[in-house]
Amino acid sequence: MSQFHELSLSTGPAGLVFECADGCSRRMVVERQTGVLTIIDRGDPYAQHRGSHSDLSMSAPSVTGAGAHEGPAAR
Ligand SMILES: [Zn+2]
Repeated sequence: MSQFHELSLSTGPAGLVFECADGCSRRMVVERQTGVLTIIDRGDPYAQHRGSHSDLSMSAPSVTGAGAHEGPAAR
């Protein structure tokens, strides 16, 4: 069962910080310079996270098999 969680946006030293406003503790940072998204805390992996800001919007990502087992955010 997937459910939607809203992300709240704040700014941190590394860039934009998205934090789950629904209490599952997911946190992600989008680096200001590169735009690279890093997941700090996975929170609820089954929830779909979405959020928006006037300058930036993020939709629920689609996950495919490619690269799912590699990369820094895999575990
Ligand atoms: Zn969440």
